[in-house]
Amino acid sequence: MNMRGKEPADPLVSLFLDLARIASPSGHEREIMDHLTARLRGVGLEVEESEPIEEHPAAAGNLYCRLAANAAGKAVMFAAHVDTVASAEDALPSPVLENGIISSGSRAVLGADDKAAVAAMVLTLEQVIKEQLSHAGIELLLTVGEESGLRGAKSAPPTQLTASCGFCMDSTGPVGRIVASSPSQKTIRATFIGKPAHAGVAPEQGRSAIVAAAKAVAEMKLGRINADTTANIGIIRGGEAVNVVPGRCHIAGEARSHVDEKLERQVTSMLEAVSYAAAAGGVDVEVAVVDEFQGFNIGPGHLAYDLALQAFADIDIRPEPVSTGGGSDVNVFNLKGVPSVNLSAGMEQVHTPDEYISVESLHQCHQLLLAIIRKAVRG
Ligand SMILES: [Zn+2]
Repeated sequence: MNMRGKEPADPLVSLFLDLARIASPSGHEREIMDHLTARLRGVGLEVEESEPIEEHPAAAGNLYCRLAANAAGKAVMFAAHVDTVASAEDALPSPVLENGIISSGSRAVLGADDKAAVAAMVLTLEQVIKEQLSHAGIELLLTVGEESGLRGAKSAPPTQLTASCGFCMDSTGPVGRIVASSPSQKTIRATFIGKPAHAGVAPEQGRSAIVAAAKAVAEMKLGRINADTTANIGIIRGGEAVNVVPGRCHIAGEARSHVDEKLERQVTSMLEAVSYAAAAGGVDVEVAVVDEFQGFNIGPGHLAYDLALQAFADIDIRPEPVSTGGGSDVNVFNLKGVPSVNLSAGMEQVHTPDEYISVESLHQCHQLLLAIIRKAVRG
């Protein structure tokens, strides 16, 4: 059943479907942010939007609002990203609800990653205001550009990161999962600069940048390096025409590890492969290494982790600490001094057209947020 024209009475499902219908690939969050701003202003919240992270009319900045405490305890930040990965052929989601499961109904990604969390957080905030629930301060930070390198979270000013602890719901699997460890990641880019020449007339005068780049990749150990470490070359680009010895070739990849020394070792070995291949091919090479995000290992004693466990107990959901190979805005918040955890929102098959979420998971997210608010007051 397509939901257009026949909205469910459930306000959380209805809000989620509204958000899912608005396409918001990274860098194109204007429409969804305008929708959310209007909605939050509708319950009297003062909403701030930061500078857009890209310079075009479809771009937006992070949305931020704060609810002043009416009880003692720990102020909490709820954070979720509104952007999604781009859909194949720019397809639009046309969400379908069947047997308690919401899927995209098209070739588009549904975007429950992370609109399930956005919907649950907005609805929770509205409920806190309407029902005048006790709370120790709540901040809502809806970020842009998460899928394009945590760019929104990285751009958040310190004045918006003042809560005692933070909660994202940007992980997959059943609600109850709590990400206890996440790797650090570095990106590696190398541009090989050889010498172009006519491939048929004077190949001996050329030095192929593609041959050098290929040799570098072949020399690298990639994939799963050990239990803590992974590496990948994801981009290779070069050449102009079949009859020209290529003068330029660019490669880019990444390494991740839960252990910083192992990450350093892997990055060093990838850079050594680049230097070796450039020297062997007689070409120059320009290299850049960027720290994308810092990993974390958290457990009991971490304020957000402890509050999450208390909240799970409160609503009878069994917590399941997991380790992930992915990064999220949580990596940035922990680094910027707001002890934060990433919880599962219950979405599955994210970043694919088969993505789905159950109505039950949406409700569990909502209940979990309310429980965190209660526990923060008592704590
Ligand atoms: Zn996500």
